[in-house]
Amino acid sequence: MTVRQLTPHFVERFPEQLQPGVLYLAMEFVSAAHSCACGCGRKVITPFSPTDWQMVFDGETVSLRPSIGNWSFPCRSHYWIRSNRIEWAAAMSQVSIERGRERDVHAKALHAAAKKADDQAEQRPVDQQLPASGKAPASVAEAWGKFKAWLNL
Ligand SMILES: [Zn+2]
Repeated sequence: MTVRQLTPHFVERFPEQLQPGVLYLAMEFVSAAHSCACGCGRKVITPFSPTDWQMVFDGETVSLRPSIGNWSFPCRSHYWIRSNRIEWAAAMSQVSIERGRERDVHAKALHAAAKKADDQAEQRPVDQQLPASGKAPASVAEAWGKFKAWLNL
């Protein structure tokens, strides 16, 4: 039976059998699970991350972004979860599925690169940050030497 609405249940872990019509939210696992809204009974796990799904809980209802495309299931169902409601999306062609996957891979790569750059920037002292010209930063010993010279030590 097609599910029209999902009721959010905050749980510590996902049960073995998912009840249709329930959106299980396990914050410890940073993901949600539900039984496919088409009624096929397959388990749909939606991890939360900047490049996976984002969840909005307004205190009563839950929305997930982006849409859920169960391309790997025989049902190939595609829907949105908006304010607990299932909103069916148009079936996607294989081409747009592939494009979506490419975009996903690209987004993940960009995100990973940005994160790495952030990490490096955090580790690098201010005076050692890469200049716009892309010159390699001075070594710590070199910078320290300059600093000591500046202090007249
Ligand atoms: Zn299904």
